[in-house]
Amino acid sequence: MHYKNFLTVTYAPAGYLNDNSVEQIREHIEKVSKYIKLDKIYLETYRSEILIERKKMEEIKALFAGKGYTISGGITTTVTRTLMGSMCFTNPDNRKRLGEIAAYTAELFDEVILDDFYFTNCRCESCIKAKGNRSWIDFRLTLMNDISENVIIKNAKAANPRVNLIIKYPNWYDSFQANGYNLEDESKMFDAIYAGTETRDPHYTHQNLPRYLSFFLPRLFENIKPGKNGGGWYDLFECSLEDYLQQAYLTIFSKCREQMLFCFPLLVNDPPYPAAAGAFYDEADLFMDKIGEPIGVACYKPYHSFGERLLHEHIGMSGIPLDPYPYYPENAKTIFLTADAAWDSEIVGKIKKSLLNGSRVFITSGLYKKLVNKGSEGNSIEDILPIEITDRKVTTDRFTNSAFGQKNSGDLRSQGPVTIPHVAYNENDLWSLSCALTPYSSHPLLLCGTYGKGKLYVLTVPDVPSDFYKYPAQTLTMLRKEMDLPVTLECAGRVGLFLYDNNTFIVQSFLERTEQVSVCINKAGVKLIPLTKSYMRPFNPARCGENESVFEVNVLPGRYAAFRIEG
Ligand SMILES: [Zn+2]
Repeated sequence: MHYKNFLTVTYAPAGYLNDNSVEQIREHIEKVSKYIKLDKIYLETYRSEILIERKKMEEIKALFAGKGYTISGGITTTVTRTLMGSMCFTNPDNRKRLGEIAAYTAELFDEVILDDFYFTNCRCESCIKAKGNRSWIDFRLTLMNDISENVIIKNAKAANPRVNLIIKYPNWYDSFQANGYNLEDESKMFDAIYAGTETRDPHYTHQNLPRYLSFFLPRLFENIKPGKNGGGWYDLFECSLEDYLQQAYLTIFSKCREQMLFCFPLLVNDPPYPAAAGAFYDEADLFMDKIGEPIGVACYKPYHSFGERLLHEHIGMSGIPLDPYPYYPENAKTIFLTADAAWDSEIVGKIKKSLLNGSRVFITSGLYKKLVNKGSEGNSIEDILPIEITDRKVTTDRFTNSAFGQKNSGDLRSQGPVTIPHVAYNENDLWSLSCALTPYSSHPLLLCGTYGKGKLYVLTVPDVPSDFYKYPAQTLTMLRKEMDLPVTLECAGRVGLFLYDNNTFIVQSFLERTEQVSVCINKAGVKLIPLTKSYMRPFNPARCGENESVFEVNVLPGRYAAFRIEG
């Protein structure tokens, strides 16, 4: 193990192992070792009809073990000539073949990971017939449970009862259920799970994954199977060096045990990427042992749910640290709920209970709209707080804050026009803390009302969720302040905050420019101790109030700064 706080690992696909001699692979190990210190490799036995025969695999295992690597196995359940290479799992030949591959791989290795092509998008005649009258989601979730239990796990464990089986999930978690990834059941069946943190280029690619996903998904997995999220997995497809490194940063910030750099031949062929990641791991190991466990605003992603897709990530990109759970976080003081929460048929009762217990519950306009007219009398969202998410749209670049008892922020400008739904409410029953403005009209962005000892907030979500990034700094700061966290950023969007339970935090810029970030600590008279070398001296506050200390931190484009709060 080269580092105190994490393992660096990579993966060698079957195609690479097939195409290269043991001598060539030896040269590649030497080459990569100049750029990055790697602890472990997963050696793939099978992918897309290429199977590495036993004798060669034994030689490759011995080669890597001789170089100090820990060795595990991998399988990619793909065939050639299908959409995305995914298998038809109702085909008896495929089923038999997959069972043989699982057994063969488990004979060779005590740990085996499934790469993230372990899904089904097959709509062949056999699958249509097997589906019957069920929805595709129900059919595929059931089908893949059967394949996991009776084909993969049964055969692998029969061949090697000690084998540790890991299922790696892709980055498209809002669509898992549509393709048969059963996160609820498979996370119990397999020995460990593994998170895709490959957010790549978030701007020009069709997936458009906000970078915050590289932190959010492993945190969700950690709360799904505590202690058993094996790692975070990223690659360099469509990545600039900056994209690549930011994936590495957030995978570390989420405290993944293994840092998987997919894959070995890419590291061989593109040395600047492993060199940059290697330098980062040297740096990260110096401070990650001073960082506690991640904390933040509790949010809820029920199993198999989809609502406002990727909205959690856009909120995270707006400087709000999130702590995601697959179950309702009933004990949390601050809870953020998107339309995904509507998947839970008892959600209104749970919200009520949290409010009566004195929590702050934030719900999005999308969730409110899904819950309207759904509950019974006395147990509906309208009974907690009656508003109307109208079908009228507003497009503007003007905003204002209007917090009761606080300064009105006047006329704030966003970075370009934003389109939001107009939300109607009963004046003075609720308060609009932040609004969009059009000539002679205002439109709530953040509404607040009380219920029991708690507060319910409704956050208006723009038609294009990434428009959160355009909001004025004061608008985002208002939202962040209401979350009532120990640390609040006062800055524009696309700056992330990663909070930990031992008075430490990390500020990560996703901007292309240097940014002066005001960091507000909710305590007077504290100091900031930098944990990274690029900020040498302790910081004294630029501004100090009765219950706050505010520091100015200059963050380089795309870089981060880690701090401990002292005092
Ligand atoms: Zn099929």
